Amino acid sequence: MTYAFPPRPQPTVAITGSDTLFPVNRIYCVGKNYAAHIIEMGSMPARDAVCFFQKPADAIVTDGRVPYPPGTSNLHYEGELVMAIGKGGTNIAPANALDHVFGYALGLDMTRRDLQTAAGRVGHPWDNGKAFDFSAPLSSIMPLTQCGHFDEGSIKLWVNGELRQDADFNELIWKNNEIISELSKLYTLKQGDLIFTGTPAGVGPVVAGDRIVLVIDRLGELAVQITQG
Ligand code: MN
Repeated sequence: MTYAFPPRPQPTVAITGSDTLFPVNRIYCVGKNYAAHIIEMGSMPARDAVCFFQKPADAIVTDGRVPYPPGTSNLHYEGELVMAIGKGGTNIAPANALDHVFGYALGLDMTRRDLQTAAGRVGHPWDNGKAFDFSAPLSSIMPLTQCGHFDEGSIKLWVNGELRQDADFNELIWKNNEIISELSKLYTLKQGDLIFTGTPAGVGPVVAGDRIVLVIDRLGELAVQITQG
């Protein structure tokens, strides 16, 4: 059998300090995971169910350049810690969940906030606000052996040199091991899955020409330039 047309290349991410690449399977994201961010979005913090959504794997951006997307006039950054899954599974217990982590990366959950808000207002899915082209800029993945886990630690984001987000992972409503456990009750986790763990308060709009810098202690930085769409 041959293909009707050439298959799209497998999306991949570099691995820090290695020549090998991390092939990306699915991108899962957690919404509403920092109380202060939930409040700034106009809701009340709760721990009843994890808010999961997805982005397509080919939404990843590894060259630090995000063209301003169509259909929006309110593109927001959301700085996030990203877990890279190295071992799949279902119904993973919280106590064993971090054994499934290959490493960590810095990521931006770029969001067409106007479309997300409009969808939420009428009970539609978030996809148009979240799962668009170039919506998942990512750093290289640092193997666990080099960075350890992130129960606590600083996450900060600057736009054009101005500090906008400043939080600590000890503020997460759903901890990283709980995220993996809850996700694995709903989906079969697979090697190559990425999980964006949620953004702290301080989200806001960017326009073409803006430069975003995300810094996470022990992981380094991710710099992203918004370009003309
Ligand atoms: Mn997010």
